[in-house]
Amino acid sequence: MPKRNATTRRSPARPIAVLLGTAAVVSLAALAWHALRPAALKRDPALSILLVSVDTLRADALGSYGRAEAATPWADRLAAEGVRFETAHAHNVVTLPSHANLLSGQYPLRHGVRDNTGFRFPPDPPTLASILREKGWRTGAFVSAFPLDSRFGLDRGFEVYDDRLGGAETSAAFLVPERRGEETVGAALRWIESVRGRRVFAFVHLYEPHFPYEPPEPFAARFAGAPYQGEVAATDAALGPLLAPILEAGAAARTLVVFTSDHGESLGEHGEATHGVFAYEATLRVPLVLWAPGLFAPRVVGTPVRHVDVLPTLLDAAGLEVPAGLPGRSLLPLIAGRDAPAPESYLEALSSSLNRGWAPLYGAIHEGLKYVDLPRPELYDLREDPGETTNLAAARPRDLERMRALLARLRADDVGVGARVQEEEATLARLRALGYVAGGGVAPKERYTEDDDPKTLIEIDTRVRDVVTLFRAGDYDGAIALCQETIRRRPDMPLSYLQLAYLERRRGRLAAAVLATRKAVDLRPLDAESISLHAVYLTEAGRPAEALAFLEPYARNVAPDLDVLTALGMAQARTGRREEALATFARARELDPSNAMVLVNAGTVHLMAGDRVHARQAFEAALDLDEGVARAHNSLGVIAAGEGRLPEAIARWQKAAALDPGDYQTLFNLGATLRRMGREAEARPYLEGYLRAAPVALEARDIARVRAWLARGAGS
Ligand SMILES: [Zn+2]
Repeated sequence: MPKRNATTRRSPARPIAVLLGTAAVVSLAALAWHALRPAALKRDPALSILLVSVDTLRADALGSYGRAEAATPWADRLAAEGVRFETAHAHNVVTLPSHANLLSGQYPLRHGVRDNTGFRFPPDPPTLASILREKGWRTGAFVSAFPLDSRFGLDRGFEVYDDRLGGAETSAAFLVPERRGEETVGAALRWIESVRGRRVFAFVHLYEPHFPYEPPEPFAARFAGAPYQGEVAATDAALGPLLAPILEAGAAARTLVVFTSDHGESLGEHGEATHGVFAYEATLRVPLVLWAPGLFAPRVVGTPVRHVDVLPTLLDAAGLEVPAGLPGRSLLPLIAGRDAPAPESYLEALSSSLNRGWAPLYGAIHEGLKYVDLPRPELYDLREDPGETTNLAAARPRDLERMRALLARLRADDVGVGARVQEEEATLARLRALGYVAGGGVAPKERYTEDDDPKTLIEIDTRVRDVVTLFRAGDYDGAIALCQETIRRRPDMPLSYLQLAYLERRRGRLAAAVLATRKAVDLRPLDAESISLHAVYLTEAGRPAEALAFLEPYARNVAPDLDVLTALGMAQARTGRREEALATFARARELDPSNAMVLVNAGTVHLMAGDRVHARQAFEAALDLDEGVARAHNSLGVIAAGEGRLPEAIARWQKAAALDPGDYQTLFNLGATLRRMGREAEARPYLEGYLRAAPVALEARDIARVRAWLARGAGS
């Protein structure tokens, strides 16, 4: 809008109309006044709220944010009929901390969740869910990826927190367990239907745009040269059934829809392939749209806003009091067209500091300037240089100083990266007493140099992605070689050791896998993933007693990590301590009653002891929680086969193979049993799949048998 109009708004039109004194002019002037006047702030105590967060979604990947070739009709319709914030910033560039900010209205400086692993949202701060539930809203969350698993603490305040990801066994170092957007939306719709007529707060999280980019058809073909955009289009399509009825109802829906993402995706900008290392606008800027036709008229807001503003805005719109002491503010005045100066925004990217020992990245944005505090500091003028191509740190020393002071003020009461759960401190003390470790993670350095600056190291990040790509293409040797090269260059990165361990295990070289996880534990002794993998690989390598000794200090925690307990139960079972193993899984179940894998593991212990009755009960209970757990289907197939019910066994295994096509044990069961039943032609594809998936070192004997079967079949 031209500046002239803004001035007009401040000098009311009414006196001019009175001066002119004609009725026609009065009404015209009144009309102009009305059009320019900010709208009244509207609130609705009966408001339902739908918070949609699309993981890894760049703002500019949407049609409404300027991408002409985008296929995002649902998000664009929300934006056209709602209030679109042109510049909205997240404060973190990874999933768990960013959602913690959104749901709590707090900076990570306060709630302390700084990365996807190693942190748990604290039990006390109020969240959107806890506040709204207390005020009588029905609350439900439906998430699509492991970083938002209930174990990380964001489930508090939700009556229903659906984090059933089912599916295949994966390693977080390679592929985060996730579920498809349509399934998450389906679960959300069923719940919304079940609470029809009530005030609802629903949080729906979709994960499609996250790497790897493998969009389904028709989007794969349509976006053949831009698969990320294909995933974005697929996500939008998945949201259709959720958004269509609300959009159709319009104001009558009495629903406020918030559409945003937790962070964007770099797509190669500044040398970063995906996200998590840097905090440039490619990943820090997010879409933010608020749709509530009963409360606000369509508008585009240019004033920069922040994720921490979302909670105050939603509570304000629902006529609720906003808790004191939050860094954010209600956006209702901006939504109504009132002017408000943009406050400062805090930002950080600490994952590669915590996981890799690189320099931590902190920063702030204020009045168009963005400051990034690193060994090589960065200062950008976002208005002149939105692509952040010209670092002004050297050219504008006074601005640099001012922004440094602002960041210092923001971080004055930073709870720090050590603010993890209390009992971990106790674990740390026990570990120290055992003479085991010195620090609580990759030990922070006294001083980081330019060698530790992520700008220097970003090429290593690309290699970490290349390892994943090689692994997914089946080139294990290439992936292992690349891992080892990265370790030579930067020997203090736990992530590389976890990748190497997983690859070595897939190769069947368990001793090498154990050595690699041990290195990861040495570097980050409180990391639950490293701890549990080390113990699991020890057990798999036939050294469960060593696993038990290793886990002892961790397992004594009041609330140990679920994966650590699982590893403990497996080691106990392997040493023949069946009752102890079952007690451990019962403890895990108490910790996370919605977790289906705990029941699968308990069932496996029963099955190993030959107790088919209790085993079946446990597997069936697991499927009641999450019907997508492949291992439960596989085990029920084993029980059915053991009891001579072969058709049922085949059906179970086919279900398991559909859910987890890479599980060689299921493929073997299916192929071998079909063959024994004389159904050679049906058996063949499963046996061939088994040969592709089975680790040679672990399965040498069965691989030889299957090869012989297939050769005989081909000759006959
Ligand atoms: Zn994310």
